[in-house]
Amino acid sequence: LPPFDPADPLGLDDLLDAEDLAIRDTVRSWAARRVLPHVAEWYERGELPEIRELARELGGIGVLGMSLDGYGCAGATAVQYGLACLELEAADSGIRSLVSVQGSLAMYAIHRFGSEEQKREWLPRMAAGEVIGCFGLTEPDHGSDPASMRTYAKRDGSDWVLTGRKMWITNGSVAGVAVVWARTDEGIRGFVVPTDSPGFSAPEIRHKWSLRASVTSELVMDDVRLPADAVLPAVTGLKGPLSCLSHARYGIVWGAMGAARACFEAAVDYAKTREQFGRPIGGFQLTQAKLADMAVELHKGILLAHHLGRRMDAGRLRAEQVSFGKLNNVREAIEICRTARTVLGANGISLEYPVMRHATNLESVLTYEGTVEMHQLVLGKAFTGLDAFR
Ligand code: FAD
Repeated sequence: LPPFDPADPLGLDDLLDAEDLAIRDTVRSWAARRVLPHVAEWYERGELPEIRELARELGGIGVLGMSLDGYGCAGATAVQYGLACLELEAADSGIRSLVSVQGSLAMYAIHRFGSEEQKREWLPRMAAGEVIGCFGLTEPDHGSDPASMRTYAKRDGSDWVLTGRKMWITNGSVAGVAVVWARTDEGIRGFVVPTDSPGFSAPEIRHKWSLRASVTSELVMDDVRLPADAVLPAVTGLKGPLSCLSHARYGIVWGAMGAARACFEAAVDYAKTREQFGRPIGGFQLTQAKLADMAVELHKGILLAHHLGRRMDAGRLRAEQVSFGKLNNVREAIEICRTARTVLGANGISLEYPVMRHATNLESVLTYEGTVEMHQLVLGKAFTGLDAFR
């Protein structure tokens, strides 16, 4: 029998092939070199100062729009994309958010619903990290219920004129292109908006106590005039943004386990060296119970993510199954991080250690891409056939 591996107690690496492992190693070592040495300082400052360089480097290692085909994208499997999300979020949820929004929301929308010209214009530069994208769905008064959005695009001759406000938009202030969802006379449509369009601005939202190493912005659109071909031609209705969100949520199912892994590892290291009452705290039964429970949820969550990834690769992943994964993995990840925090005692609240940063980041992850309650309602409806949303 192979020996027990504390990093992979269930032997889940057996599910990965050589290419999967190589991609994971590349992303892990990039994050160790480029993010981990700086992220506590970025977090404390509430800034991601090197975001443009980081985006280009992320493009260089092939993780932007990673699971899309053509147009400079890597054409990786869903499992490989998931492994990348896990490694990035083990460094910080903010970096994984940058990649999720770029690839699974902005690029995915253009790739799936865009015209050939839109794809050629934007995707290669976005895959390379030369242009950052954002995705504007949420509004100040409409979050979980985007169908009620107020942002409106009306026709003026062959042009469109876009007016409204979006809120809590990741990458907004640094984006070169925004995919904005708006109400029209034909239903909800997506628009590809160059952010230098007159009437468009994206002030940054400050004073966040979560995802501090991530740019979050308002989008203000004041009669933004767009040409006829700015609309995403291939979709009308909420199924457009919802299918993008399903793709991004899938990445979060893996990513959340990265934050959890970082906290678990910090807790084990600490428990082995910190001594109280004359011996390492890891030798106390109560600490061991915490570590065992954390490890069980961590590796169950990775197994679930892998299962969903294989279904996605086989074209058999349903939105309800993504909700299942997002609900479980983010909820368990935050529990793991909070438990790790208790193992570290007072040091658990310090930025010298990663656990409080991860735990507070996951408060955002718990809310965005569908709150816990929304995913419970999705599953509740799937099991009962009864819609409890309204
Ligand atoms: P609300 O919808 O007002 O919900 C408040 C509470 O009420 C929640 O607990 C919710 O579950 C509960 N609730 C609502 N309706 C029901 C119901 N029917 N039954 C039971 N409970 C209910 N959005 C984007 O479009 N693009 C982005 O890039 C983006 N990035 C984000 C980054 C960060 C850091 C954050 C925090 C958010 C981001 N969001 C983004 C917005 C995010 O998707 C929304 O915050 C989320 O959808 C919830 O909306 P809300 O905050 O308006 O909460």
